[in-house]
Amino acid sequence: MKEFIYLSHPRRVLFASGARRSLGGELDRLGITHPLILTTPHQENAVEDLADGLMGRNWSQFSGAAMHTPVEVTAEAMCSYEKSGADGVVSIGGGSTIGLGKALAVRQDCAHISLPTTYSGSEMTDILGETEGGQKVTRRDAKIRPDTVIYDVDLTLGLPVGLSGLSGMNAMAHAVEALYAPNANPVSDLMALEAIGVLAEALPKLADAPEDVDIRAKLFYGSWLCGLCLDGAAMSLHHKICHTLGGSFDLPHAETHTVMLPHSLAYNAPAIAPVMARLTSVLGADPAQAIFDLSGRLRAPRALSDLGMPEGGIAKAAQMALKSPYANPRPLEEAALSAMLTRAWRGEAPQS
Ligand code: NAD
Repeated sequence: MKEFIYLSHPRRVLFASGARRSLGGELDRLGITHPLILTTPHQENAVEDLADGLMGRNWSQFSGAAMHTPVEVTAEAMCSYEKSGADGVVSIGGGSTIGLGKALAVRQDCAHISLPTTYSGSEMTDILGETEGGQKVTRRDAKIRPDTVIYDVDLTLGLPVGLSGLSGMNAMAHAVEALYAPNANPVSDLMALEAIGVLAEALPKLADAPEDVDIRAKLFYGSWLCGLCLDGAAMSLHHKICHTLGGSFDLPHAETHTVMLPHSLAYNAPAIAPVMARLTSVLGADPAQAIFDLSGRLRAPRALSDLGMPEGGIAKAAQMALKSPYANPRPLEEAALSAMLTRAWRGEAPQS
C-alpha cells in the first residue's frame, strides 16, 4: 500500500481564449482599485492587451522585471508601488515577471493577479527565488501564491517557437520530478502523467502551427498542471542541479532544464522502476531517451557546453550537488554525478 498525505490549496484559475477581458471583474473581486501592472522591458506593450479590463480605472505600470528576481529591481518596483498609490499587483509575462509580482505582493501584503505568457508554471507555486549579490535564495510560503491566475491562450500566440519549446521542457521537468518526489500522492501522479503526455504530444506540433489556438491551449493546460505539480512536490536532483548550474555558471534557466532533464531522469531510473513503467505509457519504451529525442525535435540545445558552461566546472557542479543533502530516490554519488554531467556537457544521450 502506498501511504500519502494530500493537501490542496484554494486558488482561482480562469482558462479561456480572451480570459484577459475578465481582469476588471477579478480586480473588483479582490478589492483592487489601483493595480500596479508589471512587465519586462521586452513586454512593456503587453499592458495594451489589458485595455478592456482596465478601462475607466486608475492603474500604473512598472516594466523592469528581470530574470531571477534581483532584489534591487524589487526595491525599484516597491518605490513605484508606493508612489503610485497602488493597492494590488497584476503581473503579465513569464516566470521573471511573475517572480517580481510574488516578491512585491508578499512584501506589500497585497493581492496579486497573474496573467502568464510562458509555460514556466511559476504562477501556480508558493516558491519565490530571489537574487542578491549573485546568490539566488529560494523560499516557500503560502502567501507567495498569486490569488488569481488568468490563463488567456491568446497571450501565448506570440511566444517564439524556440522559447515555447524550452519553456515547455522546463514545465515538463516539474511534472517528472513530482512523480518520484517523497511526498508524491495519487492526485499529483495523475496531474503529472497527464501533463507530460499533453506536452510531449503538443510541443513538436508547434513549429508548423505556432498560432494554432488548440495546440497553444494544450500547452497552457499542460503547463498549468506542471505548475500545480511543482507547487506540491519536494524537488530532487533535477531541480537542485539546475539551480546549482544556473547559479554557479550563469546558465539560462529553461535551457539548463531542457539539457538536464533526460540525464537526471536516467540517473534516477534504476531507483524508480514503478515511475519509469508509468512514464512509458506517455513517453514510450525509454522515457529518458524519449525526452532527449524530444528536445532534438524541438531543436533545443542538448549540451551544457553550448550554454557556456566550462568543462572544468563539471567536478565543481558534482561536488556542489553533494554539499546540501536532499531527498533523491538514488543516492548521490560523486563519480556517477560527474559521469552524468559529462554526458550532459558533451550533449550525449542519457545513460542509466
Ligand atoms: P522569462 O519570464 O524570463 O521570459 C523570457 C523572455 O521572454 C522575456 O524577455 C519575456 O518578456 C519574454 N516573453 C515572455 N512571454 C512572452 C510572449 N508570450 N511573447 C513574447 N515574449 C515573451 O522566462 P520564463 O522561462 O517564463 O521564466 C524564467 C524565470 O522564472 C526564472 O527566473 C525562473 O527561476 C523562474 N521560475 C520560477 C518558478 C517558481 O515556481 N518560482 C517556476 C519556474 C520558473
